[in-house]
Amino acid sequence: IFISFEGPDGAGKTTALNKLMPLLQKRTDKEIVLSREPGGSPISEKIRKIILDIDDEEMDPRTEALLYAASRRQHLIDVILPTLQADKIMLSDRFVDSSIAYQGGGREIGTKSVAEINDFAIDGHLPDLTIYFDVSPEVGLARIRQDHEGAMDRLEKEAISFHNRVYDSYSELVKNNPQRIKTINAEQAPDQVVSDALAVIISRFPN
Ligand code: C5P
Ligand code: MG
Repeated sequence: IFISFEGPDGAGKTTALNKLMPLLQKRTDKEIVLSREPGGSPISEKIRKIILDIDDEEMDPRTEALLYAASRRQHLIDVILPTLQADKIMLSDRFVDSSIAYQGGGREIGTKSVAEINDFAIDGHLPDLTIYFDVSPEVGLARIRQDHEGAMDRLEKEAISFHNRVYDSYSELVKNNPQRIKTINAEQAPDQVVSDALAVIISRFPN
């Protein structure tokens, strides 16, 4: 079982996932593996640093999109596929939908070309279920500023118009993939978000 978690910056995915893990583990004998993108494997984490730890230099949007896709490919090969082959449960904090929303929508490369390079990278391995944490850009950015204003990465620092485009692209993805992507309201209190996510997983995989 492969489940990805998606949403704008400040949606609270990471916090919710850390709480969700033990709750989910109580309900299954299968081992659960939690990972994140960009990153999740040694080479992929190096690519994450290249993308996120630059300050002054300008990175071309297509370079950025290719690096995310490359990072994803390596994460798939090193972590996701071996986990699935061992019949474990794979939880990924972000996957291909992030690229379509951030590089396709946010950076305005176009969702179609970003989907294409990612098709090449993931070679058909889409998640069985994607949980979308729905939070408006205003609420998400306010949370980030409260949480780590001084340590915001260069994507978080983008203008509100960038974050609005990311949000709109996510909304399109949700609309176009109703079977795979399930939305939860991430503006609720943290514990409610966790229990909603758990309920979605249990209803999709009752055993
Ligand atoms: O989820 P997390 O906050 O760790 O993501 C790191 C940063 O990478 C975020 O600022 C996110 O907006 C950005 N990102 C991106 N494109 C992706 C995946 C993440 O711009 N495909
Ligand atoms: Mg972030």
